[in-house]
Amino acid sequence: MTHSQSLVDAVFLDRDGVLNHLVDRGEGFLLGGKPFRYTAPFTMQELRLKPNVEEALELIRQKGYLCILVTNQPDVATGHIDPQEFERMMDVFRALPLDALYACMHRPKDKCSCRKPAPGMLLHARDAHRIDLSRSYMIGDLETDVQAGKAAHTKTIRVCDEGTETSADHRVLDIMQAARLLP
Ligand SMILES: [Mg+2]
Repeated sequence: MTHSQSLVDAVFLDRDGVLNHLVDRGEGFLLGGKPFRYTAPFTMQELRLKPNVEEALELIRQKGYLCILVTNQPDVATGHIDPQEFERMMDVFRALPLDALYACMHRPKDKCSCRKPAPGMLLHARDAHRIDLSRSYMIGDLETDVQAGKAAHTKTIRVCDEGTETSADHRVLDIMQAARLLP
């Protein structure tokens, strides 16, 4: 077996806005001093998975890809999410058909190499799972997800409304549509 044949393909998935709904905080909500109308869920009560997520992940796996979660989660460090509540929420994602979960817990000002748009989590996963990034995909709802994918040389899919400007290779309305377009 040659070296390249032993590599696997992966789909990297953002969490908030892809697997679960964002939470609408209304106008004027500040997070880290900046206005954010839509945020991650801060509690189990606020956590709602999107429809067909489990089915979409199963389809992605049937197509031969590892499913790997790569998520920025600064809200514990900033005090917006209780650490135990964060773990309870992550248990919901650990129960999904995902092959690995990576969470960057740093704040933007920490300047780490894993916080998207940096590709650190994707590169760690590549090394841990022997992934061929050039045959892999990054799926996210923000342009920073697309940038992380491009920095790691994956193909990119953005989950967004039809009118949204994006540099992603593909645009879809939801994760099931993304799963269906994968080769
Ligand atoms: Mg997101």
